Amino acid sequence: MDVLTLNGITKYYGRICALNNVSFSVPEGSVFGILGPNGSGKTTMLGIVMDILKASAGTFTFMGQPPTAAMRRRIGTLLETPNFYHYLSAERNLRIAAEIKGKGFEQIDSVLQKVNLYERRASKFSTYSLGMKQRLAIASCLLGDPEVLVFDEPTNGLDPVGIAEIRELIKNLAKEGKTIIMASHMLDEVEKVCTHVAILKFGNLITAGNVDEVLVNEDIVEVGATNM
Ligand code: ATP
Repeated sequence: MDVLTLNGITKYYGRICALNNVSFSVPEGSVFGILGPNGSGKTTMLGIVMDILKASAGTFTFMGQPPTAAMRRRIGTLLETPNFYHYLSAERNLRIAAEIKGKGFEQIDSVLQKVNLYERRASKFSTYSLGMKQRLAIASCLLGDPEVLVFDEPTNGLDPVGIAEIRELIKNLAKEGKTIIMASHMLDEVEKVCTHVAILKFGNLITAGNVDEVLVNEDIVEVGATNM
């Protein structure tokens, strides 16, 4: 079963073509990397899938169905850094996030444990490292137990320890059975974390498929994934 299927997605901003006739499918249970250098269209693609942007042409389906608002609410998204309150604890911030999302409080302890912040739940957000803040943002995505998670460059701006922790967390979420769609400009990140990849360059899909098959082709790495 494919979680997401894109058919000829095209997006123009005025005369700029950000995505040009892009088609691929995301299999259920995959960690699917959308790999490309800055400006290749990754954020635009995630925005279209989450209904923040409208495609100029093309269609897509979730679980074989045309997307609906109700279906999108079942997807956990981290497209930009959420606004947490610096002077409140991580736990209090998650309670507020749960209220805003209309989710109950009963999952708060378990999501804090999943992102390895349970022991630090009473600490103020302002005392957290960038990596911890990002893990709290992922915890917020996990409220309501979505089957699909969409992350835009989840390790961006983090130090090596923070990067390693987020990558480990993504792999653990995948082991639990989540499907994860993540944009990245780092080839090594996709190699380490993802099972599948779509490579974008200047809005064009270079190739898509299983990481082991796609990334062994040096021509493709040359064309699509250097200098990211
Ligand atoms: P980055 O990693 O820098 O976010 P990206 O791969 O996510 O890059 P997009 O942000 O989707 O790429 O941008 C794709 C193209 O569309 C780029 O040429 C960008 O300049 C252009 N673009 C993105 N948003 C807008 C906008 N709101 N108005 C005009 N052009 C835009």
